[in-house]
Amino acid sequence: MHGLMMDTPLTITTILRHAERVNAASEIVSVTADAPRHRCTYADVFRRARQLANALTAAGVRPGDRVATLAWNDYRHLELYYAVSCMGAVLHTLNPRLFAEQITYIFNHGGARILFADQTLLPLVEILRPGLPALERLVVLGPDYEAFIAGQPDRYDWPELDEREASSLCYTSGTTGHPKGVLYNHRATLLHSYGSTLVDTLALSRRDSVLAVVPMFHANAWGLPYSVPMVGGKLVFPGPKMGDGATLAALIAEEQVTIAAGVPTVWQLLLNYAREHDLVFHSLERILVGGSACPLSIMNEFRDRHGVWCVHAWGMTEMTPLGTANAKPPGYDALSPVAQDAFRVRQGRPAFGVEMKIVDDAGRELPWDGASAGLLKVRGPWVCRDYYHTGEPSAAHAEPGWFATGDVANIAPDGTLQITDRAKDVIKSGGEWISSIDLENIAAGHPDLLQAAVIGVPHPKWDERPLLIAVPRPGATPTREGVLGWLEGRIAKWWTPDDVVFVEKIPLTATGKISKVELRQQFRDYRLPA
Ligand code: ADP
Repeated sequence: MHGLMMDTPLTITTILRHAERVNAASEIVSVTADAPRHRCTYADVFRRARQLANALTAAGVRPGDRVATLAWNDYRHLELYYAVSCMGAVLHTLNPRLFAEQITYIFNHGGARILFADQTLLPLVEILRPGLPALERLVVLGPDYEAFIAGQPDRYDWPELDEREASSLCYTSGTTGHPKGVLYNHRATLLHSYGSTLVDTLALSRRDSVLAVVPMFHANAWGLPYSVPMVGGKLVFPGPKMGDGATLAALIAEEQVTIAAGVPTVWQLLLNYAREHDLVFHSLERILVGGSACPLSIMNEFRDRHGVWCVHAWGMTEMTPLGTANAKPPGYDALSPVAQDAFRVRQGRPAFGVEMKIVDDAGRELPWDGASAGLLKVRGPWVCRDYYHTGEPSAAHAEPGWFATGDVANIAPDGTLQITDRAKDVIKSGGEWISSIDLENIAAGHPDLLQAAVIGVPHPKWDERPLLIAVPRPGATPTREGVLGWLEGRIAKWWTPDDVVFVEKIPLTATGKISKVELRQQFRDYRLPA
């Protein structure tokens, strides 16, 4: 039909062009193995991305080929993000914290022939290498990488790509069976960037200085490498120092960080560091926290000590990854403290672009009443339609047009979501569900506890009962009775854990979340007190 709009494809290349033109001077600050603070601009990164695209072409990379990275968050990784996807190839990010066998499987399944690896990860590459027969070229992100792009022309005509073409590939950790690949395309990435910059989602703007502690190998650092250049904010990357409180605190202060993104365990670490060193983060306005439920104790400390709002968000690798985000609602300040708490523990409302529903075991839709808990399903342009080359239909996609998240949730009438558990972590006591997330959240509020995790353990009468595993705060000596007393009145009586075990450390997954799988393994011979 005549007289319609232009058919500009929704590609990552359009972000690149826009950012290069209008946000050229915005800064990118990185901690790398060779520099405590590397500084450059978007103009530098996109110029070097063109050199990199030429170098990749010369190395034989063609559209559709996978290019793998095993790297921390920094400007070189960002150059790879744009060069690879915008030349029509597929960026395959690998998580170095996985077991070597898992990385080997993921690399081989993805099918890349070239790997870009961080200098600090070379010992790992040496371990992996014998298991990667298809690997033809290794480029180390340091002088080797500089030599790889040096001498290449900084002119490269980015091709006009179809928006449905693949742009990047990321595998979920896969707690059961093999890890599964999620293949993103340009269209999903671009729409996700629009959706995640909105004021009621992450509210990203040019005035923001954004610290991405969520790794670029974990669901594309939650899309920040695309959404921040889209708006022109400053990007701050901690490189290999992602788990180092001192580096994170220094970056926040020196780079005037306004928003920082990461999983709850990272924020726990940073808060401990700030408390021990008597620091207050004056520039910080928001923390974007997700990946697992954020305990209220973390959000309270950010609010009370640093004046920071925690945007509690829920998402999945399969969702590019943003699903919902908990921005401050209208009328929030007039709510009672109890109502404010009840609001903050929820994961918020869906970004435009994400449709959700909750269903019972028979697939019947449940009401949005804030109480009925069911299996959460989603759909939308940035939700994955299937997994990458699995050779068998995915159970998560059994209902046509919907993706079953594997999470259990309730939804309030206004669309505010609350994740009560992962379906496989739910504790079934006498046929009723106990939310391990709720229990953990309340237990972690105990003044003497640093961290709490709840798993179900077998029980002769009730099938399963909750076991609370807790890490005391340094110097504190909480007791089982004290903790159970704290829970009394704060939870339904039948939710009371049958036992409390104190440990020094709770095992984490490769994405920094409490590993329930490992905890269940650790406590497999545990018997509840009679
Ligand atoms: P991985 O399992 O590899 O860490 P994901 O990051 O994709 O991969 O994990 C997504 C899952 O993390 C969700 O299905 C959900 O169970 C959990 N999750 C993410 N954000 C939250 C949140 N804010 N609260 C509770 N659970 C969350």
